[in-house]
Amino acid sequence: MATKGNISVHTENIFPIIKKFLYSDHEIFLRELVSNAVDATQKLKTLSASGEAKGELGDLKISVKLDTEAKTLHIIDRGIGMTEEEVGKYINQLAFSSAEEFLEKYKEKGAQVIGHFGLGFYSAFMVAHKVELITKSYKEGSHAVKWECDGSTTFEISDSDKTERGTEVILHLAEDSLEFNDTFKIRGILEKYCKFLPVEIAFEDKVLNNTAPLWTKAPADCTKEDYEAFYKELYPFSETPLFWIHLNVDYPFKLTGILYFPKIKNEFEPTRNKIQLFSNQVFVTDSVQDIVPEFLMLLHGVIDSPDIPLNVSRSYLQSDSNVKKINSHITKKVADKLEEIYKLDREEYNNKWESVGTFVKYGMISEEKFYDRAHKFCLVQNVNNEYFTIEEYKEKIAGNQTDKDSKKVFLYTNDAVAHDSFIKAVEKRSYDVLRMDGVLDNHFISNLEHKLDGVTWKRVDSESIDKLVDKGQTNESVLSESDQTAIKDSFEKDFANNGQFRFATEALAPDDSFLTLIKPEWERRMKEMQKMQGMGMDIFGSMPDSYNVVINTNHALSVKLSKMAEGDSKNQMMKQAFELAKLSQNLLKGEELTQFIQRNLNQLA
Ligand code: ADP
Repeated sequence: MATKGNISVHTENIFPIIKKFLYSDHEIFLRELVSNAVDATQKLKTLSASGEAKGELGDLKISVKLDTEAKTLHIIDRGIGMTEEEVGKYINQLAFSSAEEFLEKYKEKGAQVIGHFGLGFYSAFMVAHKVELITKSYKEGSHAVKWECDGSTTFEISDSDKTERGTEVILHLAEDSLEFNDTFKIRGILEKYCKFLPVEIAFEDKVLNNTAPLWTKAPADCTKEDYEAFYKELYPFSETPLFWIHLNVDYPFKLTGILYFPKIKNEFEPTRNKIQLFSNQVFVTDSVQDIVPEFLMLLHGVIDSPDIPLNVSRSYLQSDSNVKKINSHITKKVADKLEEIYKLDREEYNNKWESVGTFVKYGMISEEKFYDRAHKFCLVQNVNNEYFTIEEYKEKIAGNQTDKDSKKVFLYTNDAVAHDSFIKAVEKRSYDVLRMDGVLDNHFISNLEHKLDGVTWKRVDSESIDKLVDKGQTNESVLSESDQTAIKDSFEKDFANNGQFRFATEALAPDDSFLTLIKPEWERRMKEMQKMQGMGMDIFGSMPDSYNVVINTNHALSVKLSKMAEGDSKNQMMKQAFELAKLSQNLLKGEELTQFIQRNLNQLA
């Protein structure tokens, strides 16, 4: 006997609205229906374990079948099923009232609801013009029923001759959803969302999922090989990761997962292998930017938490207290892991620094809490490829590189090849030079300068050799004051190039270079900042690069020049010396360079 009834929805045409709202994400109907089938199966297992469900459970595999001729998609489980009364309660009332509720939320919050979770059974109507549900409860003596609905607010329930326990949902695909009448497409969706569901899912008689993914196991039971194999399962084309963190929290929130530290070759390559978010092994999304701290977005792996609210908007998510806790838990775990490797095997840690350093520096810049932990195990590397923690380095250079104001001067280069002459020059003073050539290093340096007491950073080409670590001593100049002024003026007259080069004299050691082109630290940083902020047209950005030129008045050439009479040969000599200085800074280019080479060749001939 068939019963007809009305579904109590208040929005008359709920389905067209759902369809319209979720236009781009229609495929998630399958995730919702398979999740229901999994839930029904898990419930049955629980009832059986407690003795409430009697008899053999049999094969609990869930089957998804596509009949392309009939244009029907079938989701068949052998779970608890429903009695006629339950169909009325759960499908007609619960499912549809949650549909309305969802829609209300969705209208308010806009299109940014995470993963559109909790859409439930009615999401079937996004792709079907008619849905049938045939079900038989596990309860003894219950008879099978068939429910059907064509997407209007009326439904029909009749008896069914289904003999097996469980539920079959049949979708009659709508004309505008025939893209789902395609085995390739359906398999793709199942592989995306159902890959790690805890109950076997078969499509075309082939099981598609791994029901016990590694993150669900106890860390103590997992080997290095397991972790590496699971990484390959997640990202088949990637290199072996450096190390990993197995998350396993029960309280005050539930969180499991494995985060992998990948090898980073080119810093900031767009992250292809994103972290995947699951909720009870159901894939939700791989856009986790509000759940995982920003600096850890470069990590790979999975996190699974049923405590992350998923049917809320992104802006709400950020203020959710569980999400905040999860966020700081992950940050803490990452810091723990890094500290552990740092303490256990310093050598290995040094070796991995090139990849790990990017995370650590990014984290230190962007998260105060992480900075507090990480400054202890953050490394700097010098041009001789030795590694130090910041404290170790402070100690190393304290003796020789403390200036007159008691500041420790960290000398660095962002391009050891281009700065070779400067590096050689400071090495003569037994100074040490750090290699800071990562994309983040500019930021990192200014950040550290704020936070470290009594440390100042100077690029090796930012001052004359004696001013880099200014010990307040002035050397005596071999030249008289008037000779010094004269030599400065004659350079200024010929080579200032509208202020691009500013000349100054300094009494350096006789074996320091004659002319040094330097770029003042503050000016360079200003420019770099402007560039980073994409404001190239601003005043610093649009100014041509300018340099200070230090004339070493104790160099033999200064003495020689000051004794020479004005005239061609003096001019020639100055020109040659200045162009050599430019050459050493890679600033002699184009026509100037061509003429320079020609002139020098002529002299040889
Ligand atoms: P939710 O799963 O979030 O509770 P749904 O709209 O998906 O919401 O489903 C409503 C209810 O219908 C479920 O809570 C469950 O009791 C019942 N149900 C749905 N699908 C099945 C199924 N395959 N087997 C047994 N019960 C089901």
